[in-house]
Amino acid sequence: MHVYVESYGCAQNQGEGRTIARDLHAAGHSIAASPEGADAGVLVSCAVIGPTEARMVERWRELAQSVPRVIVTGCLVPLRTGLLTGEERRRTTFVPIRDQVRIPELLGPTGSPPAASSTVADPVAQEVVLAQGCTSHCTYCFSRLARGRLQSVPPDEVIRRVRAAHARGAVEIRLSSLDTSAWGIDLAGAPRLPQLMDAVAGVSGAFSVRVGMMSPQTLAEIHEEYFRRLADPRFFTFLHLPVQSGSDAVLGAMRRGYGAADFRHLVAAARASCPGLMLATDVITGFPTETEDDHRATLELLREVAPEVVNVTRFSPRPGTPAARMEELPPRVAKRRSREIAEERQALARGRLERWIGFEGSARVLEHGDDGSSVARLPNYLPVVLPERLSLGANAPIRVDGARSTYLLGRRTGPAEALPPALPP
Ligand code: SF4
Repeated sequence: MHVYVESYGCAQNQGEGRTIARDLHAAGHSIAASPEGADAGVLVSCAVIGPTEARMVERWRELAQSVPRVIVTGCLVPLRTGLLTGEERRRTTFVPIRDQVRIPELLGPTGSPPAASSTVADPVAQEVVLAQGCTSHCTYCFSRLARGRLQSVPPDEVIRRVRAAHARGAVEIRLSSLDTSAWGIDLAGAPRLPQLMDAVAGVSGAFSVRVGMMSPQTLAEIHEEYFRRLADPRFFTFLHLPVQSGSDAVLGAMRRGYGAADFRHLVAAARASCPGLMLATDVITGFPTETEDDHRATLELLREVAPEVVNVTRFSPRPGTPAARMEELPPRVAKRRSREIAEERQALARGRLERWIGFEGSARVLEHGDDGSSVARLPNYLPVVLPERLSLGANAPIRVDGARSTYLLGRRTGPAEALPPALPP
C-alpha cells in the first residue's frame, strides 16, 4: 500500500509518527509524500487543548476525503474518538498509542520489498522516545489519560535506537518523553536519567543530544547528577522545564508536586552548573483557581528566572480531567492574563537573546530556510540564522550579529566542517 503519515503535537508524538512510517516501509509499504494518490492515511493526533483537538477533527475529515482508508492514533485515541462522526468513520480504524506497532499488519500484507519510490523522511534531527506515559497526576492534563502510566524503554533498547538514528543520518538526537527525568523509575533496579546519559555519551559518532521536557518534581530527585552530565559537550546545554505557574496555590490545585521555590532552586542550580544554559519553560494562564495575585506571581517568577523561551497556553478544560470540573474564569480575564504573559515573554526573550550579540563559536547546521538561509544551533540550542545554504549537519564557525525575539542572526567566520559519515548501527 502507498501510505501517507501526518503527525502533530510534541516531539514524542512526532517521533512516534516517524517510527510508524519506518515500520510501514520496513514491512513493504511505500510512504507517500502527500495524501493525493495514497491508499491510506495515518493521522498521529494531538489533543493537548480544545482548539488543537478541533483542528485534528478537521484534518481527519480532509484526510478521509482524500484517501480510501484512515488510521487515527495519538492522543485522540481512545477518549475522544466520539468527535469523529459521519460516513468517514466507517473507513477509519482507531489504534491506541501502545498498539502503533500493529499498524503495518492492519494495513495488510504487501508481499513485496519496500518500493524504491517510497519517501521515508530521515531528518538530521531525530527523536528517540524514552518512555510512554508518566508518573504525575496533573489535574489539567489529558496526555496522562491518553498515554497511561510510565513505561520506560529499557536502556539497551534506548542505545540501540540512538545508534540506529545516527546510522540513518541523525546528527541531533532528541531524547523525548512526557517527562524525561522520570525515565527508569519503573524499570528493574530503577536506573535514572544520568546513568542513561552516560551510556548515550559512550556511543561513538558525531552527533549531539538534546534531552527533552522534564518535570521539576522528578528532576529534583536527580538534579545534581543530571546537571553535571548536561555540561558534557555531547549534550546541548538546554533545559525544558515547564513551571506552569509562579503561584504555590495554583501549583497545588494543578497537583504538580513542587512549589515555585523548588523551580527557582532548580534553575539556579542549572545555570550554576551549565554556563550559557538555555531555559525553556511552559506556563498555563487562566487556570480556574488563578487569582490576580497568582497571575502576578507568575509574571514575577518569569522576570526573575528570565527563560530564553516561554511557551504560553491559555487553560482549556480537557474532558475527564479534575480541572474540567472546576469553574472556569471569565474568558476576558483569561485572555487578558494570557496577553500580559505573552508581552512579558517577548520582552524577556529579546533581552536574553541580545546578550549573545558578539558571540563567536561553533554552531551545527540543522535546518534550511525557504529563502536560501540555514539555521544552525549553538551548543545551548539557541537558533542562529545564517544567510547562506550550508550542508545539513555541518559545523560552522560563526559570529552572532543580531537578535530577534526567538532567534539570533549570524554569519560564518570560516569554512564549515562537513558532516562525517554516519556509523553503521
Ligand atoms: S502528549 Fe500532549 S502534546 Fe503530545 S501529542 Fe499528546 S496531547 Fe499532544
